[in-house]
Amino acid sequence: MLKDALVEAEILVEEGRISRIGKSIESGYHRTVDLRGKLVLPGAVDPHVHGREPGLEYKDDFLHTTKAAALGGVTTVLEMPNTIPPVDSPSGLLEKKSLLSGRSYVDFGLYAVLYDYGNDLDSRIAELVRSGAVGFKAFMAQTTGNLPPPSFGTVYRALELSRELGFTVVFHAEDRECVEFFTSRVVGEGREGLRAYSDARPPLCEELSVERVSSAARATGGRAYVAHLSSASALRLIREGGGFPANVYVETTPTYLFFDYESHEGLGTLIKVNPPIRDSKNRARLWRALSRGLIDVVATDHAPHAIHEKNTEFWKAAAGLPSLQQLLPLMLTSALEGRIPLGKVVELCSENPAKIFGLYPAKGSLLPGADADIVVVDPRAEYVVTEESLVYKHRLSPYVGWRLKGRVDKVFLRGEIIVEEGGLVAEKPTGRPVR
Ligand SMILES: [Zn+2]
Repeated sequence: MLKDALVEAEILVEEGRISRIGKSIESGYHRTVDLRGKLVLPGAVDPHVHGREPGLEYKDDFLHTTKAAALGGVTTVLEMPNTIPPVDSPSGLLEKKSLLSGRSYVDFGLYAVLYDYGNDLDSRIAELVRSGAVGFKAFMAQTTGNLPPPSFGTVYRALELSRELGFTVVFHAEDRECVEFFTSRVVGEGREGLRAYSDARPPLCEELSVERVSSAARATGGRAYVAHLSSASALRLIREGGGFPANVYVETTPTYLFFDYESHEGLGTLIKVNPPIRDSKNRARLWRALSRGLIDVVATDHAPHAIHEKNTEFWKAAAGLPSLQQLLPLMLTSALEGRIPLGKVVELCSENPAKIFGLYPAKGSLLPGADADIVVVDPRAEYVVTEESLVYKHRLSPYVGWRLKGRVDKVFLRGEIIVEEGGLVAEKPTGRPVR
């Protein structure tokens, strides 16, 4: 898959990078791999991963998380900062980087958290960027880790700096007061379940937050990224609300594309997630938006929890689910079934995330000069997701039993083969921090 087109070609890899693509590249090289009949794609870049290390290893750890990434064809993950301690200082960032180096099967980048740093805000952000933060995450509503939401002033200033320094601010866009109001109302009514959960954190809460973020991005010219968008109504506010800026990027996740509370109420807490899954009409609108190019990225919001945290009373159960191993397979299945073009999958899962987070074209492309992060897919293979095939520490997945098309056969990370015949063959974790 090259640019927008499917072409037949040979790829020459030298010193971990793609050096040439074309037909009949002369032989005589060190090693050749025959990929006839296979699809060759750039490795996926997942900019929304909660690896849980350090501090929450009982949920998952970076070895498990990045093994799932590798097997799923994700060769770069961007790791969220709500670990323990949260990443909020240059020294914390560097410590986490050295901790995870040697514990990652794929390349990785680290976010820092955005909260009210007071008078230190400017210097803190600048130092974190200098120390290699790949972006900042702002939690606008309560979520795992209970990090306090940043004030309006902090958001505004961070967006100004994002334009000057060229980073991106990722928003968990739900309005906290709105969520608190509706949650206490729905809990008070004695309701539970997925439909109740959607009413407890309704699209309105997402709309309020998205409007605030988009308006601030428009006013500052800053780079805002709305993570895990669940409601089509909130998307409309970003894309069609009269001159909202193109520098507001939008991500959705497989959870919102493949589940709705009308068809999947029975999955219960397994697909309890923030923001919640919505109704089937909304789900259809998200797919339409995806085809029309109104959504930039499909990423996982991979958020593993321990079994006892999910298999419990509805309101107490943790929000979030692991899906890193299935991201690309689900999207490939959608392409092979004709729901969206294959090129769109590459754009949504590789190219766009790499561009938005400043990693392109080293990541997210098969262009000469790019890192040889290559995914080889057998487009004819079909298989059923089994619990045994999951490599998460806690094998919880709503996709168990699903029949998928297009198996990830081989994965190369900077030219080294890490997955073969669908199994991990990397001798040790060789993932590196991205620049
Ligand atoms: Zn998240």
